[in-house]
Amino acid sequence: MTAQLILKPGKERSLLRRHPWVFAAAVDRIQGAPAPGDTVEVRAANGAFLAWAAFSPRSLIRARAWSFRAEDRIDAAWIEARLTDAVERRRALVTGTDAVRLVFGEGDRLPGLVVDRYRDTLVVQFLAAGVEAWRSEIVDALVRITGCRDVYERSDASGRQREGLEQREGVLHGTAPAGPVEIDEHGVRYAVDVVAGHKTGFYVDQRDNRALVAAHAAGRSVLNCFCYTGGFSLAALRGGARSVLSVDSSADALAMARHHQQLNGLEALGEDRCAWREADVFETLKRCVAQEQRFDLIVLDPPKFAPSMHHVDRAARAYKEINLKALRLLAPGGLLFTFSCSGAIGVDLFQKIVAGAVFDAGVEAQMLRRLQAGLDHPMLMTHPEGEYLKGLMLMRV
Ligand code: SAH
Repeated sequence: MTAQLILKPGKERSLLRRHPWVFAAAVDRIQGAPAPGDTVEVRAANGAFLAWAAFSPRSLIRARAWSFRAEDRIDAAWIEARLTDAVERRRALVTGTDAVRLVFGEGDRLPGLVVDRYRDTLVVQFLAAGVEAWRSEIVDALVRITGCRDVYERSDASGRQREGLEQREGVLHGTAPAGPVEIDEHGVRYAVDVVAGHKTGFYVDQRDNRALVAAHAAGRSVLNCFCYTGGFSLAALRGGARSVLSVDSSADALAMARHHQQLNGLEALGEDRCAWREADVFETLKRCVAQEQRFDLIVLDPPKFAPSMHHVDRAARAYKEINLKALRLLAPGGLLFTFSCSGAIGVDLFQKIVAGAVFDAGVEAQMLRRLQAGLDHPMLMTHPEGEYLKGLMLMRV
């Protein structure tokens, strides 16, 4: 018999609005003895059916809904159908690249599952007890659906700890990657280290924003802060930037960035056209301001300054500081592409922080566009927590 999670009175409201999370505090009692990842039936205090969900005894999110339809049966075939849906929908949505996020967790109604495709290699993250319980069925289905043989696991994200799951990495199917996987994104080539790179190896989510930078880079001097392996830098060079200075504190990331320069036939560019600087961005910005340097296009794509709600104040100050400095470095007519990938910093708050930086920098700036992750990173309308990457494109006037 399927175990039941009975909620406290009134706690059914978010599920009735099809929000997929059941918090521990909402649970009145459990009937049966479900194991981690088992499918449970979630019921309201009055007994009404609410959802089929994956049980996660160690997490504050005690269960994540698979389905709100009583007639569904959560089995391997059901999961394969959802995976097929997610993969098929991407085909028309994302073109011109062989790096695509095929599955984006709650956004694809597969809570806790992330699948990125880099050419013919899949990289998977199981970030919740539910998808962990179905891992072998998920891998088999992905191989069938995509035809990709090589599947690598990168379940090393911090979210797993909160689910009571240990970190896991390694080959799930096929052979171990012999080296970085080469991809082509809108004519720019990148090498993705799926074993040691950040997340699953590459910031797939910034694809559209890289294209936007490329489209506006011609003739501009560019400063790319927190460049990682040079995604925005290569896009700017492809777009005809006059010069690109890229800054990151990671020597490994910069080594890969230099490799990208070669991979794209740009190794002949001198330091004056393409420079990679291993340095702290805060220090670099301070020094550039002191030296009254000027740039025509600046990218600020920092790491997650606010890993949780507890860090919001400090993170807000850090975002403010880098934006303020960058705005001072922008020539009139210059463009700023500024991002935050902290889920705890909402779109409105981020805009307020950047507006404060504009004011304090003593400049005037126009917002030309709000920026977000690409079309392969959907956010379910009933799950606003799925929104994490946000950005603004500003012009100094
Ligand atoms: N913009 C990148 C992704 C940035 S990830 C892209 O599009 O691919 C964040 C990067 O910031 C990492 O590479 C990390 O090494 C770097 N980083 C973190 N703190 C830093 C600091 N204080 N100064 C310089 N780089 C930093």
